[in-house]
Amino acid sequence: MSVPLIQQWRVGSYIMKQRLQGNARYPLVLMLEPLFRCNLSCPGCGKIDYPDEILNKRLTVAECLQASDECGAPVVSIPGGEPLLHKEIEEIVAGLIARKKFVYLCTNALLLEKRIDRFSPTPYLTFSVHLDGAKEEHDKAVGQEGVFDRAVSAIKLARDKGFRTNINCTLYEGHDVGKLADFISYACDDLGVEGVTVSPGFSYEHAASKDKFLNRQNTNALFRQLFKIGQGRKWRFSQSTLFLDFLAGNQNYGCTPWGTPTRNVFGWQKPCYLLADGYAASYKDLMESTDWDRYGAGHDPRCADCMMHCGYEATAVADTVAHPLKALNVFIKGPGLTAR
Ligand code: SF4
Ligand code: SF4
Repeated sequence: MSVPLIQQWRVGSYIMKQRLQGNARYPLVLMLEPLFRCNLSCPGCGKIDYPDEILNKRLTVAECLQASDECGAPVVSIPGGEPLLHKEIEEIVAGLIARKKFVYLCTNALLLEKRIDRFSPTPYLTFSVHLDGAKEEHDKAVGQEGVFDRAVSAIKLARDKGFRTNINCTLYEGHDVGKLADFISYACDDLGVEGVTVSPGFSYEHAASKDKFLNRQNTNALFRQLFKIGQGRKWRFSQSTLFLDFLAGNQNYGCTPWGTPTRNVFGWQKPCYLLADGYAASYKDLMESTDWDRYGAGHDPRCADCMMHCGYEATAVADTVAHPLKALNVFIKGPGLTAR
């Protein structure tokens, strides 16, 4: 199952509680970046182009757990950089699990086989492995041969040891949709991962290569094509049904960046995981000092083409809880496949 039942129940209950308390802005997923250093240098990455003094910084275990305690989000995603380079990553993960947080450890998997015995399988931990397609596409995307094979080998080992595994796939301009569909089938049917996350890449100011990012219209077209090919295939996505429908251009959502707050070595990043318009010293300060209305498509030109999970998944999940019949309808029929 792409999302464990216990997680669906806990997150659903959490959202209901927030609604009953009249909280208009609440966190759903904490994006916890304990370091920016990585052992790859993918051309589309917006996280690794910092000077060494920043790349050498780490959040401590205490800082990571305090971030979780401060914001209270039920889900914690740990991207980076490469989190497995952090020498205390297993303590961070264990501390979060002890708090009953659902942890998604995002990794390129190059160190996963070596480090896997530091972790224990549990429904609270999912290894979310970065794979941008089949062997040829992924090795090209990360700029290094052999990475796909090592990641697949690590996924198989993790599956054999009973860990939950996801694949995290970023899409760029020119992606071959037929090959992408076959890759998703391979991930679900052959590798047997719990779920696949597909997101259009974001044009970071830091990204080395800026001509490869999808605009909103092309994102919608790509996902409609993808879902059309996928009809009848048994794909498991780790995203909500309404978020997938949004990617295909069928939901008119506004961005809710506070749903996915980001804590990294600089502090609490304003306003989201993608843009860095300053940092707050605490979660409370982030919520109170950010001018949230300045952001989102139609407000900030940098947001015009953004359809990333960190801006819109929380919107879609809240919509699912508010309108379960609409979500059920899309779940049964699949995302709409024609342009609106
Ligand atoms: S593996 Fe991830 S963090 Fe590392 S360089 Fe590639 S995109 Fe960036
Ligand atoms: S639209 Fe995207 S880039 Fe803009 S604030 Fe929302 S998540 Fe951030």
